[in-house]
Amino acid sequence: MAGRFDSRLTLLQAVPRGSVPAGRVVVLAARIMASCAIPRGSLVVPAVDESVRVRASAANPAPDAASGGLVRAGTHDQSNVLELACWNIGEPQSLNFTGNRTHAERQMVEYLKAMEAAAPGFFGSIVSIEIDINRSPCTACADSLCGLLNRIRAARPAVAAPVRMMGGRKVFSSPSAAPVPATLRWQALHAGGPQATNWAALLELSRAGWRLLSPADARPGPGSVHQGLVTVGNL
Ligand SMILES: [Zn+2]
Repeated sequence: MAGRFDSRLTLLQAVPRGSVPAGRVVVLAARIMASCAIPRGSLVVPAVDESVRVRASAANPAPDAASGGLVRAGTHDQSNVLELACWNIGEPQSLNFTGNRTHAERQMVEYLKAMEAAAPGFFGSIVSIEIDINRSPCTACADSLCGLLNRIRAARPAVAAPVRMMGGRKVFSSPSAAPVPATLRWQALHAGGPQATNWAALLELSRAGWRLLSPADARPGPGSVHQGLVTVGNL
């Protein structure tokens, strides 16, 4: 799949063809910007399930490790930008099992959570996050991506809500966490299986703060009551 991405998915296009191990069905590319230097973790995104052996690519700096992704070497020195490429670590048919331990999104989420655990404050410094993925997130990965954005948002400094006038009195709302600009673009619909992308999952992502973009033919079919409540922009 690598190297054959939709030209509109510019982050995926930038992933060097040789850096993705052979046989990966799902590949995502993420770009995270922070307001200050991002603490540097390992160059390899460890596989969430260490028992899975993904045949390493020539560009993998740790060919013996079970890898779920790589930090883009080109961005490793740009102190406030982190770019990751992650992939599914299981067999293609496992994408239709329940759970998401082998899914590309989960590899990314766990890597970022580990970075925050190692250097608390990282999440609070994130000012934007963009993800390109060649297949829409399954319902389990939608949960994981919502959870990630909620954690980032909760870690950000609170901003005071505007003061409103009500009945001649000033009303002060309690400060709330500032939203994080977050964009999720996908190329094709993950259809079939028990966790096929559905409108309820897309609504959940939208409400968590993800701006959603895809080709018009890469969305769930009509008929869901949730469809009218979520906007998916055209790529
Ligand atoms: Zn998934």
